[in-house]
Amino acid sequence: MSAADLPTRARVVIVGGGVIGCSVAYHLCKMGWNDIVLLERKTLTSGTTWHAAGLVGQLRQSINMTQLARYTGELYRGLEAETGQATGYRQCGSLSLATTAGRMEELKRNASMAKVFGLEVNVLAPREIHALYPLADLADVIGGIHIPSDGYANAVDITQALAKGARARGALIFQDLKVTAIQHDGRRVRGVQTDRGCIDADYVVLCGGMWTRDLAAGIGVTVPLHACEHYYVLFQDVPGLKPDMPVLRDYDHCSYFKYDAGKLLVGAFEPHARPWGADGIPDDFAFGEIAGDFSHFEPVLLDAMRRIPALEQAGIQKFFCGPESFTPDVRYHLGESAELGGCFVAAGLNSIGLQSAGGIGKVVSEWIRDGHPPVDLWEVDVRRNLPFQINRKYLRARVSESLGLLYATHWPFRQYETARGARKSTLHDRLARAGACFGEAFGWERPNWYAPAGIAPRYEYSYGRQNWFEHSAQEHRGVRSAVGLFDQSSFTKFRLEGADAERVLNRVCANDVAVAPGKIIYTQWLNDRGGIEADLTVTRLSESAYLIVSGAETESKDFNWLQRHIEPGAHCVLTNVTSGMGVLSVMGPRARDLLQSLTPNDVSDAAFPFATSQVIELAFALVRASRITYVGELGWELYVPTEFMQGVYDELVSAGAACGLIHAGYHALNSLRIEKAYRHWGHDITDEDTPLEAGLGFAVKWDKAGGFIGREALLRQRQSGCRKRLVQFKLTHPEPLLYHNEPIWQGDAIVGFIRSGMYGHSLGAAVGLGYVTAANGAAVGDIGPNDYEIEVAGVRHPAVAALRPMYDPKNERIKC
Ligand SMILES: Cc1cc2nc3c(=O)[nH]c(=O)nc-3n(C[C@H](O)[C@H](O)[C@H](O)COP(=O)(O)OP(=O)(O)OC[C@H]3O[C@@H](n4cnc5c(N)ncnc54)[C@H](O)[C@@H]3O)c2cc1C
Repeated sequence: MSAADLPTRARVVIVGGGVIGCSVAYHLCKMGWNDIVLLERKTLTSGTTWHAAGLVGQLRQSINMTQLARYTGELYRGLEAETGQATGYRQCGSLSLATTAGRMEELKRNASMAKVFGLEVNVLAPREIHALYPLADLADVIGGIHIPSDGYANAVDITQALAKGARARGALIFQDLKVTAIQHDGRRVRGVQTDRGCIDADYVVLCGGMWTRDLAAGIGVTVPLHACEHYYVLFQDVPGLKPDMPVLRDYDHCSYFKYDAGKLLVGAFEPHARPWGADGIPDDFAFGEIAGDFSHFEPVLLDAMRRIPALEQAGIQKFFCGPESFTPDVRYHLGESAELGGCFVAAGLNSIGLQSAGGIGKVVSEWIRDGHPPVDLWEVDVRRNLPFQINRKYLRARVSESLGLLYATHWPFRQYETARGARKSTLHDRLARAGACFGEAFGWERPNWYAPAGIAPRYEYSYGRQNWFEHSAQEHRGVRSAVGLFDQSSFTKFRLEGADAERVLNRVCANDVAVAPGKIIYTQWLNDRGGIEADLTVTRLSESAYLIVSGAETESKDFNWLQRHIEPGAHCVLTNVTSGMGVLSVMGPRARDLLQSLTPNDVSDAAFPFATSQVIELAFALVRASRITYVGELGWELYVPTEFMQGVYDELVSAGAACGLIHAGYHALNSLRIEKAYRHWGHDITDEDTPLEAGLGFAVKWDKAGGFIGREALLRQRQSGCRKRLVQFKLTHPEPLLYHNEPIWQGDAIVGFIRSGMYGHSLGAAVGLGYVTAANGAAVGDIGPNDYEIEVAGVRHPAVAALRPMYDPKNERIKC
């Protein structure tokens, strides 16, 4: 269309005409929306899409991401027939190889996960792989998996087909038209400004690929991504090459092989990538190639030639290097931004944009239509990002690792090696001296476990018991038998203050926060459907002030959720005080002895009951002590002004020796909390799980004055009964380990999957939490303790099931 036809108003403006933008336009139109405008600064596909290798795989690292990729495959299969535009889609299947036991375990676990939604994944022996791919030398291969419904497609043709499908349903697509600014009123987007005029819009969707970070930063929206060089080589005249050969992935040698119009395309996911475009992406960049560095690609190429010996007789037709955007956690960014209503993002595709585009277009369109994601999409939700993450030094360092992680073994507890040390507790150096092995979470360095003297605080990864297992078990036992010290400074902390604070907060919380100062309330924040948006504690500090404490991962999301529910004119102010306060937790039966030995305040049960909070004297500080627990023992969380942290810590440690104080890390915390079946938001509870399904009905105050968001939906569910329920499982056998995504079997049917798993050192086996559904779609009734089995890497293991926590079901250890 010519710029003269540019409308002045649209319901949705999509910025960017790559495969992602075109898929969003296609799905919005297919949903029946009209008034959709897509703007592309150059030509459709001219950013990254035009040079995608074309792999369309479906199995990802999690259930929801696999479902999105699976839908993409289904869409592409029918797109040519629907639009009349050739797509080059071919369902040739895919093979993934394992040359190590760890990789084989990963593939088998993924094959088990795929069963949850019926994706056929076959585990193969080397001779079966050979039958499907005779060109490969399999001497070092111990096995692999085959996915018959995987395939490949031509990315340009797929994009054109999506664009054609969108146009046919009324979308207007403009090329050579650049969006120069996003217009907004501080709370919501209002439209876009282009180099040819303005368009008012209700929604703007940023699908600008590697340009998105800067475009979003201009309006205060956080979209951390950075381009990296990405390589492949085309071999011609490869003896024995056939068009129906499956796509081959050799993860352990960072390469993939794909039939490409009579040639063999060999692509790389090398461990140390080269970031690109640090000084900005040239304005005229379109259908661009990068010179690249052949010597950087060469080691992968040499391995590839060992894998496919026929390549030695073939010729290199093209050495290609192009830019693709990568993100700090190798997960893409989707959804409505935390900062600006109506501003949606679909960017940062980490080299899986073609195989994700269908699912992304669908869920983003439904998200726009319904005002919420159609399924739990937290792992890719753009609101998980924190403002500091658009720092370019941080991004450059991290994305050099991100690219390789696509093909690296996804070891449990695997830690990033780059961009470390971004956020540190003031105790960091002291904890390091105590032996802490730090993990990175949301930029924070957090002790995951402590190495005893003489042991290096370093991970040795495997799918079995890793090197820290026994050290963490000691920490766990120390907490259960004496007292453990946790640095939980990464907790997100907000203050809500003002005359209307109680009224505003009580509408957002499902529990009742109209309580006396000093009381701590455990509560969920719900959406209109009764789904859990946040899981946190609220402490009333005074008549007009509250302290809200939540997990580190939801800092932006939770702040924004509450902020959006403060209606204009309400007398209350929300402040993020995370940086101002450290948190030290002392947890265990001797926590009271320890605290009492250091403070003149009375911390007896009578003077300081469970779920209350007081300011006490400790070291030279005034510390807010909150009697609450996430580990299932007597204990206090101590909220300490940052500059007093070291003094408080030093006194706790020196007095702690008499009480058996032990430093404990996040792995022990996770083991302790899962035994007690304490839920973790993002895994066990999400925006699609309700408190009734999650067994958190005790925290719902149905009849409080003014009601609360989500109450009507919950009331309906209370009437009709829950179709799924969160159950705690313990494997009968002490050996196998649960992580997440393992299928739950009841007889011959899969009835759910494990949301989170960890070894329970007091219960003596792996413990997991997962929802079970009734096979006939009816409300779930009684849960028999021996009804279930959990599948781990293809083997079904009997499990004990319970609705009440297996550890201390009567809370006797907490309320003492
Ligand atoms: C070598 C290589 C191989 C790959 N192989 C595969 C593969 O096999 N399978 C797979 O799934 N993925 C693959 N990918 C990744 C895939 O190509 C990308 O993930 C995907 O193309 C990203 O699509 P996009 O729409 O987000 O970005 P883009 O295609 O870059 O589209 C963004 C568009 O936005 C436009 N734009 C930006 N700013 C503005 C503005 N201000 N106004 C208007 N327009 C704007 C740009 O011009 C651009 O056209 C590969 C990538 C590379 C580099």
